[in-house]
Amino acid sequence: MMVVGLTGGIGSGKTTVAKAFFALGIPVYIADDEAKKLMRTSKTIKRKLITLFGEEAYIDNELNRPFLADIIFNDKSYLEKMNAIVHPRVARHFNKWLLKQNSPYVIKEVAILFENDGYKNCDVVVTVVAPKSLRIKRLLERDTTTVKKIEAIMANQWTDEEKVKLSDYVIENIDMETTKNQVKNTHLQILKKSQKR
Ligand code: ATP
Repeated sequence: MMVVGLTGGIGSGKTTVAKAFFALGIPVYIADDEAKKLMRTSKTIKRKLITLFGEEAYIDNELNRPFLADIIFNDKSYLEKMNAIVHPRVARHFNKWLLKQNSPYVIKEVAILFENDGYKNCDVVVTVVAPKSLRIKRLLERDTTTVKKIEAIMANQWTDEEKVKLSDYVIENIDMETTKNQVKNTHLQILKKSQKR
């Protein structure tokens, strides 16, 4: 089965586009959501995160995000250490999920796909792009956040130009109707590709 990596910068509309693929009958795996679930449910992940960050890493069985964000903000090496605990287990979870799907291809939505070479594990890469100003506007409407925080995250991600160069398909997500049409076209092209394999 073909694995189609779906990525894009913060607020570009990855999940919105993933939902449009889902509406066409394509199984969708949202890696960030699954990682969050596993951090809550996997005993091994919990034990390892508590060893790394201390008991304060969890409050009432929920990940203490502000506490972790603070540590990571002050020492970026903790992000790598945390990813080294979580990523392999998400990868295993994804592979198990993949075995249960019956479809010419699946969509795997991953926020960070190019930055860590994850795109090399995908058969096809689709990148969602949108102007920075629009992404910031959408995020300010969706989340309780600030322009400063959004720009700090953007600074750690590749630019759209860099991502587009390594992508098989690009979806420009500005107005929803045009986005849905692009998803339909991309879907048809990926189906064709899957038939040739
Ligand atoms: P994140 O990087 O935080 O995971 P994302 O890339 O998955 O975000 P979405 O959550 O899909 O982005 O979209 C961000 C916000 O913008 C959401 O509130 C969504 O409803 C809105 N949005 C996305 N695309 C469109 C669109 N074409 N028209 C109007 N609103 C949109």
